Amino acid sequence: MLPAGSTIGILGGGQLGRMLAMAALQLGYKVVGYAPAGDNVAADACSAFITAGWDDAEALAEFAAAVDVVTWEFENVPLGTVAAIPSSLLVCPPRALEVAQDRLAEKAFAANHGGTPAPHARVETDADFAAALTAIGTPGILKTAREGYDGKGQWRVRSLLEAGGVRLPGTTCIYEGFVTYETEFSVILVRARDGQVRFWDSTANLHEGGMLAQSILPAGARVEAQVPAARELAARVADALGYVGVLTLEFFATQGGPVFNEMAPRVHNSGHWTIEGAATSQFENHIRAICGLPLGGTKTRFEAIEMRNIVGEEALEAHRILAEPGEPHLHLYGKREVREGRKMGHVTRVGHAVK
Ligand code: AMP
Repeated sequence: MLPAGSTIGILGGGQLGRMLAMAALQLGYKVVGYAPAGDNVAADACSAFITAGWDDAEALAEFAAAVDVVTWEFENVPLGTVAAIPSSLLVCPPRALEVAQDRLAEKAFAANHGGTPAPHARVETDADFAAALTAIGTPGILKTAREGYDGKGQWRVRSLLEAGGVRLPGTTCIYEGFVTYETEFSVILVRARDGQVRFWDSTANLHEGGMLAQSILPAGARVEAQVPAARELAARVADALGYVGVLTLEFFATQGGPVFNEMAPRVHNSGHWTIEGAATSQFENHIRAICGLPLGGTKTRFEAIEMRNIVGEEALEAHRILAEPGEPHLHLYGKREVREGRKMGHVTRVGHAVK
């Protein structure tokens, strides 16, 4: 168990790191962050923040010397960066990052553990793309295998005619058949060092333009019926990785059951509601897990919950939300620059307390 007063190192400087750091502070820890130059809003909640490149060996050594445990808030931290950190500081195996950084690898990993991904194929060349279109058909989505997020690095292909106009980006891609689904949902779990696993309730997740817009509880009968199978897969994946901390798997709820989309080896946007809505938030339980503290309960505290992202210029008027009825909980991430499509904050609205 990491004693209070110890220091947690977080790789990545975004809002997830900021909210993790806030939870760590509450439990008496100090936080040192590390990320390349940028709008590192996690720094506001850290006692020190090292701004340096992912490949800066000297800065990484300074970071490692300053902390007692290392975690990440960003799944695209290069594996070389993590390899430069002494393994004694890493409670979660870097293999989790390796799998999650590659859409082909994560789909194969999930399938090997009993999951069902969308039909898909690796695309490197025009010939691969043509073969994928023949095998899978249209509509579909071409995605870069690595580095894409929030709908970036993705191209919808509605028809063969449209496919003819697609220029491959020059990096490995995956072509996926378009899944017809009723709702998207995620399974968020926390796994302790001793292997104990707890799940939060699954919200229905609504996306706009490939990016999460809203998470809602209750999630509806279709999602609720598919959660047990999805949880089983998520737990198997977490066990196979020897995972420690919060892990998220995203699914499409289809007529034929849950279709695995992707995994994030970290706290997740669709779990922000847990700050006010669950007995223990995803952020606090992640900190508890990596520090070897007892996990907190994950029970939902309200009959209905809605989390909505505040995106781009909506943030400029966000304080008005506080005057709305129902005691909305506003979270702003302190980002200096408002950009279109950028997640600037979120608001959580809760209904009646569960009796
Ligand atoms: P991803 O980055 O893979 O999570 O994709 C972003 C969003 O695009 C997903 O949350 C879905 O809303 C949509 N999407 C991605 N892949 C598919 C697919 N194969 N079929 C249908 N919708 C998809």
